[in-house]
Amino acid sequence: MQTRSNAVRLRAVAIAIALAVLSTAWAFAAEAQSTEDRDVLFQVSTIGALLEGVYDGPVTFGELHRHGDFGLGTFNRLDGEMIGFGGDFYQINAQGVANRVPDRWQTPFAVVTFFDTDQSAVIDRVRTYDDLQQLIEKTLPTPNICYAIKVTGQFDYVKARSVPAQQRPYPKLVEAIKDQSVFEFRNVRGTLVGFWMPEYMKGVNVAGYHLHFLDEDRTSGGHLLECRVREAVVEIDYTRSFYMVLPEQADFDAADLRSDKEKELHRVEK
Ligand SMILES: [Zn+2]
Repeated sequence: MQTRSNAVRLRAVAIAIALAVLSTAWAFAAEAQSTEDRDVLFQVSTIGALLEGVYDGPVTFGELHRHGDFGLGTFNRLDGEMIGFGGDFYQINAQGVANRVPDRWQTPFAVVTFFDTDQSAVIDRVRTYDDLQQLIEKTLPTPNICYAIKVTGQFDYVKARSVPAQQRPYPKLVEAIKDQSVFEFRNVRGTLVGFWMPEYMKGVNVAGYHLHFLDEDRTSGGHLLECRVREAVVEIDYTRSFYMVLPEQADFDAADLRSDKEKELHRVEK
């Protein structure tokens, strides 16, 4: 009897130690993950699927919040331009008006991360979006990783666009943007939010720049088409991890994602 109860006690101790070791390991894992997670670019679907008219997706903005608070994308039915900034997601609707996005809304395409500044610079008097692109590109340490980009300051001019919600059967994106609205802002304070991606991301995302604009009052903005910067701070976040979720959904599964869509993408983005 004595031996047996010792054995039982020993086993109990062994289990307790195992649990303690396990929970320590979990604590370490959770800590490591939360640190690493901030540098992960989290993407829903592909730009190719969006070009093909896959405008409904199952991922909610409540879910998206767990993967980042900074980024861009769109909404189910292609109902406007999305911009994630300062911990909130905003919809820029077809009238150019910014609205806070409810957690229950869903997205067919989004890219988000938690923004941590790895480098920053003050810029002034940048005459065009092209010039801004070249200026930033010169400072990137390598063309082979993804960058989150934030430009905050005073703009002499911003030209942005948004798109109206579409009806099924959905047209391709090149067709849908024929209904786009274009907005011009002069002498406006605000922020450009977006990404620079390497050439090899073609098809998955937009190679090069993709930026959205939100004004300082968070009342208007859109997908950036042109700008003139008076003075601003450029912040860049290096991201070396990429996590993509492909929607489990008939539209996505049926879309033809094999062909090169670079020309279509150029028309849609610029
Ligand atoms: Zn956009």
